[in-house]
Amino acid sequence: MNSDSRGSITPTSPSWRTPPAIQFNYLSAEKDRRDWIDAVRVTREIMAQSALARYDGGEAEPGPNVQTDDQIWDWVVTNAKSAMHYSGTCKMGTDDQAVVDPDTMQVHGIEGVRVVDASVMPVVTNANTYAPVMVIAEKAADIILGRPALPPDHTEYFRRDQTRTAELRVASKDS
Ligand SMILES: Cc1cc2nc3c(=O)[nH]c(=O)nc-3n(C[C@H](O)[C@H](O)[C@H](O)COP(=O)(O)OP(=O)(O)OC[C@H]3O[C@@H](n4cnc5c(N)ncnc54)[C@H](O)[C@@H]3O)c2cc1C
Repeated sequence: MNSDSRGSITPTSPSWRTPPAIQFNYLSAEKDRRDWIDAVRVTREIMAQSALARYDGGEAEPGPNVQTDDQIWDWVVTNAKSAMHYSGTCKMGTDDQAVVDPDTMQVHGIEGVRVVDASVMPVVTNANTYAPVMVIAEKAADIILGRPALPPDHTEYFRRDQTRTAELRVASKDS
């Protein structure tokens, strides 16, 4: 979910009828490579737990013959699929890279044009994107209709344990 790879959407002509050039650059960042290899190793560690032994029918993919970082990466490059969470091309915010004003959902500098969809996400959500889009739409509807926003709800959420990931990285290097 937290890929460092960044793509681009570039207009190919002045006409909105002509499709833009979309460059995804999947798996182009070194962090993606690191995270994927960690993900396979963490999953193997979880599946090796005694509590799961009676469910374990052996590893189907990538399979026991795929062990080194390079072998795992080759498998990822050949088998990874996009979750199609395209987002962030009209990000909300007030910095000079921002496109949409979060207080009005209007495009900065343009009267009467609002954007309310996945493209306003400043960062890709750490979950599938449909529900966050519905949340954006609900909040934007309140803004457009001038209704007061709901009070904030400070729910606890998962934060990646950096020390644990670092331990795993050391362990995988020593193995
Ligand atoms: C195959 C696939 C599987 C997915 N699976 C999941 C999943 O399991 N869980 C999850 O959370 N997310 C999933 N996603 C991601 C999620 O569907 C999207 O993030 C979300 O739908 C984005 O919402 P949106 O409103 O930004 O865009 P969209 O949902 O794409 O809505 C855009 C709408 O605008 C319409 N439109 C386009 N051009 C025009 C035009 N010129 N005039 C008028 N209307 C127009 C389109 O027909 C469409 O109805 C999946 C996406 C895909 C493609």
